[in-house]
Amino acid sequence: MTNNLTHQQWVAKAKVLSIDSGLFIDGRHVPAVSGETFDCINPADGSVLAHVAKGQAADIDLAVASAQAAWKDRRWRGLAPRARMDVLLRFADLVQQHSHELALLETLDMGKPIGDVLNIDLPEVLKTIRYFAECIDKIEGAVTHTASDALHMILHEPLGVVGAITPWNYPMLMAVWKIAPILAAGNCVVLKPAEQAPLSCTRLASLFVEAGGAPGVFNLVNGLGPEAGKALALHPDVIKLSFTGSTAVGKLLLGYAGQSNMKRVALETGGKSPQIFLSDLYDLDAAVDRAVGGIFDNAGQVCNAGSRLLVQRDLHDEFVKRFVERAAVAYRPGDPLDPATTLGPLVGHAHQRGVLTRIARGQAEGAQLAMGGTSPAGFAAGAYVQPTLFTGATSHMSITREEVFGPVAAVTVFDTEEEAIALANDSDYGLAASVWTRDLKKAHRFVHALEAGVVWVNCFGDGDMTQPFGGYKQSGNSRDKHMMSLMSYTQSKSAWFSLG
Ligand code: ADP
Repeated sequence: MTNNLTHQQWVAKAKVLSIDSGLFIDGRHVPAVSGETFDCINPADGSVLAHVAKGQAADIDLAVASAQAAWKDRRWRGLAPRARMDVLLRFADLVQQHSHELALLETLDMGKPIGDVLNIDLPEVLKTIRYFAECIDKIEGAVTHTASDALHMILHEPLGVVGAITPWNYPMLMAVWKIAPILAAGNCVVLKPAEQAPLSCTRLASLFVEAGGAPGVFNLVNGLGPEAGKALALHPDVIKLSFTGSTAVGKLLLGYAGQSNMKRVALETGGKSPQIFLSDLYDLDAAVDRAVGGIFDNAGQVCNAGSRLLVQRDLHDEFVKRFVERAAVAYRPGDPLDPATTLGPLVGHAHQRGVLTRIARGQAEGAQLAMGGTSPAGFAAGAYVQPTLFTGATSHMSITREEVFGPVAAVTVFDTEEEAIALANDSDYGLAASVWTRDLKKAHRFVHALEAGVVWVNCFGDGDMTQPFGGYKQSGNSRDKHMMSLMSYTQSKSAWFSLG
């Protein structure tokens, strides 16, 4: 299927797109028990895309009961590993076949440029499903050394019904980072996507059943975080909750687990990632290019966005000059259905207001605007914010401490290696970091000294499915991707046989 469609062709396809707006429970789209809905808004123009079923506690009860029934009768975990693998591989094939439909849903719902969905999100979604499908028959237990009158085996078993609460910045991809390993390990899942962008996930749930997944194994409840999300997190039959979102909500979820059944809570809760540019780096243009992409891709709505730019003093002026030049060319606002657009709107108007407020606070605190700072002219109906760069930022400012989750970076100058490390680690977060230097020994020192779950050297944002992704400190405790993620949805059982 070609992705080389014109703007007009995407607009025409969008006009005839059919949208599933129900919950997905027991293999069927259903309305909410209350009959209530919430509006799904296109952030590019403020239009209403769909009235989506608003799930609440009663709907979560139905979805968990359905998943629990599927868990108990072993309709999924009881399948031979190869049979489960076949379903997940067919699921990936169907996602691929429906890539235009899914891309349109993602773009209209979330505002992400269609080219990004087709070239970044969807290929990553497919890789994720296929990677975990292929892992299914690679899970191995162990037989340990014991006295000869005993046999001891360590088995890895699935957990049961797992809940997933996911964010809106990569709606499909973040959901698939959870559901693919959850399902691959043999669990059943109830997914609660973000209410700002639930449409693509709603379609994913039905594609799983079309691929041969038994009804009840993958249920989906749309709804608001404090209603549907909270009910899922409090549910006594949910044995684990996997979450990507804000630190504030992550802390609530830990509390809900304590108030209910002590469910395991896996959290990825954002960051304030530093990129450190040392004056001995190889290639300033390459570094600037990744600095710009690291904060303006997806309009900065990225957990590991490189929002803190720590630049060694003698590099500073040239770095800022080239950054501004490069960003002005590379990130231009436009209709997200236009394949030429590189900067879409933020996910919604409320989020846009929040980002603009944070920019104003940065100025009030004394940081200087080197570019951007407001909404671009000509896009009044959309939730757009200009690519924004602050200079003169210090570590006490909110602009360097708090996650903005928008296209906003702040430059802080440093003199010594020790100062760079101290600045980088002076954060409640620790999701990712990068260092740019031509000196490998220095790079090694930084890798060990930086408090982050991912450290990139002379690059930013690179990786593949073999790279565990997750944070230190208040960026969370989980690891997505990699076999580590798969195994985190299992529990070990020790079986000791007496042969005496
Ligand atoms: P953001 O501020 O970026 O929207 P959130 O952490 O609020 O991030 O949202 C991430 C996910 O958490 C969404 O699916 C949202 O509905 C859900 N959520 C928000 N509040 C709660 C809550 N009190 N309990 C459970 N889930 C919640």
